[in-house]
Amino acid sequence: MDLSHFVSSVTPSATLEFNKKALELARSGEDVVKFTAGEPDFPTPRPIVDAAIKALNEGKTKYTNAAGIDELRKAIALKLQKENNMTYSPEEIVVANGGKQAIYNVLKALVNVGDEVIIISPAWVSYEAQILLCGGVPVIVQADVERDFIPEINEIESSITDKTKAIMINSPNNPTGAIYPESFLGELADLCIKEDLFVISDEVYEKLVFDGSHLSIASMDGMKERSAVINAFSKTYAMTGWRVGYSATSTKLAKEISKIQSHLASNVNTMAQYAALKAFEVDTSSMVEEFRKRRDLVVSRLSEIGLKFSKPAGAFYVFIDIRPYLGRRYVNSNEFALGLLEEQKVGMVPGSAFSCEGFIRMSYSSSVEELKKGIDRFGRFLKAI
Ligand code: GLU
Repeated sequence: MDLSHFVSSVTPSATLEFNKKALELARSGEDVVKFTAGEPDFPTPRPIVDAAIKALNEGKTKYTNAAGIDELRKAIALKLQKENNMTYSPEEIVVANGGKQAIYNVLKALVNVGDEVIIISPAWVSYEAQILLCGGVPVIVQADVERDFIPEINEIESSITDKTKAIMINSPNNPTGAIYPESFLGELADLCIKEDLFVISDEVYEKLVFDGSHLSIASMDGMKERSAVINAFSKTYAMTGWRVGYSATSTKLAKEISKIQSHLASNVNTMAQYAALKAFEVDTSSMVEEFRKRRDLVVSRLSEIGLKFSKPAGAFYVFIDIRPYLGRRYVNSNEFALGLLEEQKVGMVPGSAFSCEGFIRMSYSSSVEELKKGIDRFGRFLKAI
């Protein structure tokens, strides 16, 4: 039988696949150091867990409004106002099953078959796949390690055609840790207005900032109507398994997104929505400080080995240039990552998963001991190549 070409054109999420491989090896008894999935190693803060238990005990176990409970949408609108200086009504917020589904909802509401969507490489693994699933055409613009992975506005401009519908950005960035400066965001906003383009701005790492500061492009003049802000509770509040994210858009787009959400998933798990509501009361600054310490440790250890990378300003990834090590035992980043896992039992994700061959992503959401152990093994692996 001829199956959907949209689906057959994509592969499973490589971040999750490599994470699975590392977990399987660990389950078989090996001492694996896992730098694969981007997942905080902290437990979900207790008040958030308690809020979910309370919701269960109170019988909050039924369907909610498909776009999310009113209290949560109001709290999100308030957060966007207070922290990001952006005015959204609760009706413009749609709660989804994680940032991942929030992005898909937006793409599905925007993209017609054949529409082009620009993504910046290195690009998180699911952007390209989701565009393809919607029948769109991903157009990749490369950002270079030499420019700290900040894209060049001219290169974005020259990739625009009469089919270009939107551009996706992600700052702080997965997998590079880059934070886009205001100057770049301003140029991009001007370009989007001039060319009548939409921006999907994935801001799920917004709180994990070590150098500089986060700014949402949607807060810039003339941008709200042509932007979708994506955010989630997963990374900020160590809530990856709860699956709560959201989109903030214009009223017109939010109505379309709500339709998609209602047909695909009804609402996000009810108790998880109450847990997310509580999250706004939780102070996560100690987690951010811990990530900063880890970032500094990783940067200094990797530099000692002599590796080339851009110092991450945010998120919890470092994207390492392995090109000098390819061409001998390993011809590409996928083989390299498999070799590293098999020989030294260290899990990382190949750059090919982020449309960027010649690199490997290390997630430093692990304890200091694990980081030291894993980087020592990584150093031994490189020496033996
Ligand atoms: N976003 C995380 C990562 O990049 C989790 C895995 C995934 O959903 O891709 O590792």
